Amino acid sequence: MADKKTVKKDTKKDSKKVKNAWLKYAAKDLKALNSLCDEYRDFISVCKTERECVDEIVAMAEKQGYKNLYEVKKVKAGDKLYAVNKGKAVVLFVVGTEPLEKGMKILGAHIDSPRLDIKQNPLYEDTELAFLDTHYYGGIKKYQWVTIPMAIHGVVCKKDGSVVKVVIGEDDKDPVVGISDLLIHLAQDQMDKKAAKVIEGEDLNVLVGSMPLKDEEKDAVKANVMKLIADKYDIEEADFMSAELEVVPAGRARDYGIDRSMIMGYGQDDRICAFTSAKAIFNCSSIDRTAACILVDKEEIGSVGATGMTSAFFENIIAELLDKMGAYSELAVRRALQNSHMLSSDVNAAFDPNFPSVMERKNCAYFGRGMAFSKFTGSRGKSGSNDANPEFIAKLRAALDKHEVSYQMAELGKVDQGGGGTIAYIMAKYNMEVIDSGVALHNMHAPWEVASKADIYETEKGYEAFLKEI
Ligand code: MN
Ligand code: MN
Repeated sequence: MADKKTVKKDTKKDSKKVKNAWLKYAAKDLKALNSLCDEYRDFISVCKTERECVDEIVAMAEKQGYKNLYEVKKVKAGDKLYAVNKGKAVVLFVVGTEPLEKGMKILGAHIDSPRLDIKQNPLYEDTELAFLDTHYYGGIKKYQWVTIPMAIHGVVCKKDGSVVKVVIGEDDKDPVVGISDLLIHLAQDQMDKKAAKVIEGEDLNVLVGSMPLKDEEKDAVKANVMKLIADKYDIEEADFMSAELEVVPAGRARDYGIDRSMIMGYGQDDRICAFTSAKAIFNCSSIDRTAACILVDKEEIGSVGATGMTSAFFENIIAELLDKMGAYSELAVRRALQNSHMLSSDVNAAFDPNFPSVMERKNCAYFGRGMAFSKFTGSRGKSGSNDANPEFIAKLRAALDKHEVSYQMAELGKVDQGGGGTIAYIMAKYNMEVIDSGVALHNMHAPWEVASKADIYETEKGYEAFLKEI
């Protein structure tokens, strides 16, 4: 048996040497990893809109004993609470023993993903085919969204106040819909176009029918589709005006790779960070400073709108929380926010050997190396980014090392190759400590994105370490 000192030294050496997290796992780690990833795969298979994510997170929270903040009169240490904003954003709290003024430990992520939104006057017929007209949401390579099976998810709000939930294309017996592309045999002109012009935004028309309704003189195919929709959902064509319907890739997320080490699924940006953040707060029972997890909408179009991160929702909820603690004042709200620490999570780009030229190998994320942290994001000289303070990063490193979490510092790509924004800078406006963190992906914003299971597991453990130690 080696002496204690030697064992300790060796372990330390190993943890530095082993960059790939897979190499450190014992059987029990793999069991926990697979259990988390199975649950995650199921989550992204059914949660394909922000509303579906909110509904599922609330259901999970209620199972854990969380109560609706708006329905609670008094709040005390140990309480577990949630609040929903207009069905499209949600915040979870585990109330700490310390006064809220001392600040919170906040996990944040977004639950909206790139997709095709159905327009408000969508249904039309052209040459005996019925289509739904769309306007894409978020940054997409449009040519990736044609010739794949698509589903329709969303809500139709009727004048009588009722809300009809729609999901078409997910059940094995459901039909799917989709967008056509030109056959290669006639694509000589198309193939000479720039990638941005091969498929244009206004051409993302979803084919939904080809069978005419008998005895209908005008637009009989459209009439038939509308009749089927009306019969199933009890809605009329005018109800599309007050609908929010999203066309998304149809089908479930899958294990990816012959070794099953990855997951391929739609909308992993950023439901991968949302799910793991929620799991981490669910695993946190008692805490010193209050833990919060905020999952927001509209990040992909600039965090705007009532349900995006720039909305006053979170600030208002902190005021509500303080009020229910009997501690409300304007100053207390400001102190609670300013004294907080936050992991603002969003996906990062994992190094892809098929496209090495856009990455700087020393400073990018790799599959299997764990939770990815970005001191800054932005583009062209860090423009628009939150630049995390090194004092905060040092504290995080200590917390992550203490809990043996694998992590990596990563920039999104090479300087001046592009860039991206997150919700980090918005929360930093309150003068809290914020850093970008999350899971690295291949195929970001494509219909099917890929993530490493080891990174999912390490990131969830990283959030737990943050909640315990910061
Ligand atoms: Mn994105
Ligand atoms: Mn994102």
